[in-house]
Amino acid sequence: MSLPAYRPPEDPGLWEAFLDRLEKTLKVAAVHPTTLEYLAHPKRLVTVSLPVVMDDGKVRVFQGYRVVHDIARGPAKGGVRLHPKVTLGQTAGLAAWMTLKAAVYDLPFGGAAGGVAVDPKLLSRRELERLVRRYTAELVTLIGPDMDILGPDVGTDQQVMAWIMDTYSMTVGSTVPGVVTGKPHALGGTEGRDDAAGLGVALVLAELAKRRGLPLKGAKVAVQGFGQVGGSFALHAERLGLKVVAVSTSRGALYREEGLAVAELLAHHEATGELPAYNLAPEELFGLPVDYLVLAALEGALDGEGAKGVKAPVVLEAANFGLTAEAEAYLLGKGVLVVPDLLTGGGGLLASYLEWVQDLNMFFWSAEEVQASFAKSVARAVAEVCAKAEGLSLDLRTGALVLALERLNEATRLRGVYP
Ligand code: NAD
Repeated sequence: MSLPAYRPPEDPGLWEAFLDRLEKTLKVAAVHPTTLEYLAHPKRLVTVSLPVVMDDGKVRVFQGYRVVHDIARGPAKGGVRLHPKVTLGQTAGLAAWMTLKAAVYDLPFGGAAGGVAVDPKLLSRRELERLVRRYTAELVTLIGPDMDILGPDVGTDQQVMAWIMDTYSMTVGSTVPGVVTGKPHALGGTEGRDDAAGLGVALVLAELAKRRGLPLKGAKVAVQGFGQVGGSFALHAERLGLKVVAVSTSRGALYREEGLAVAELLAHHEATGELPAYNLAPEELFGLPVDYLVLAALEGALDGEGAKGVKAPVVLEAANFGLTAEAEAYLLGKGVLVVPDLLTGGGGLLASYLEWVQDLNMFFWSAEEVQASFAKSVARAVAEVCAKAEGLSLDLRTGALVLALERLNEATRLRGVYP
């Protein structure tokens, strides 16, 4: 990016990808220079060293991060990732993406992200608990329901969110459910949170199918990534009448032309952490003859080379930054409909918003009320992104970016620059 911008000390990774996409969008969006300055410089970057007593009595120090990118539209909100490849640059990019995603969905949040460079599968549950609690304790003066709200991401589960909530509450001296979303229901978690990220992807697909006359009943779908997002998406896709013909993990892909029994696969995966069988290499999933290809693994999963084999006319990017810029340019050039993460991946954030609102009020809604509100918000986001993209003859990602930047522009202008 030629504009002055923050540069992470190492591994610019996703931060650079964010800056690139921001710069490209400036060609079609009128963004005030002040807004741009804000967006190109994260508000706060924190690096913490986390000493943990391991089960063998030795102490190991892990590196943790929390980045607040922008708070023009509300308190910061973002996930916590536990993965060996977590870096400051990656965290800054994900935080910026949350700023944009919240603006696309018109939610009153700014953007944040955090994480620890660790492979949680290599820790015992007690070690993991000590790590998560220490991470929360190090951040305790910087987070809170009206400052920075944490949530789930890769490598976490409801229990991790419960430890964050408990550690924060014990430290400040009162029970504060709203500091974290994705909690168990017994601790103020919302109905419908478990599968919200996957449900969001399915609802976006259904809304787009309605608007653009795309097939639904019996249409074939391949899902890269069978984790929290990919697994729940596959189940909801099946409920919508789609035929899930392939799913994959980092170990391999399972393909069955007649369709897979998703509930059985999920039960097997939950019990063993594996799919029952693999008959393709992970990357072979991209080239399958399907109507929809869903990317629900990690960032950069589909690159320029991989994109050349894609046969699906529609690619849904459920994982943040799932497509590289080269892959996206190639697919758009071939006339593929690319549904961007800013729209497809909004379900988790939307559910977090509904949980946070309930926590602040200590008043909880029924599953039906949550579902109705959730579906309405997804439909509105799809309609607004499509209207913006169609009105300006843009692809859906650029349409979503323009919409987000307009909203951020207005909030930044109204707030002014303090002092
Ligand atoms: P997860 O760890 O539960 O699942 C990731 C899945 O991807 C695993 O099945 C893993 O085996 C698979 N995978 C990794 N590399 C692969 C490869 N090369 N080929 C095929 N599969 C591969 O993670 P998740 O929580 O489902 O998150 C997935 C994406 O969705 C991430 O980008 C995350 O940021 C985003 N996201 C998650 C949430 C949430 O609430 N969990 C919310 C919003 C966005």
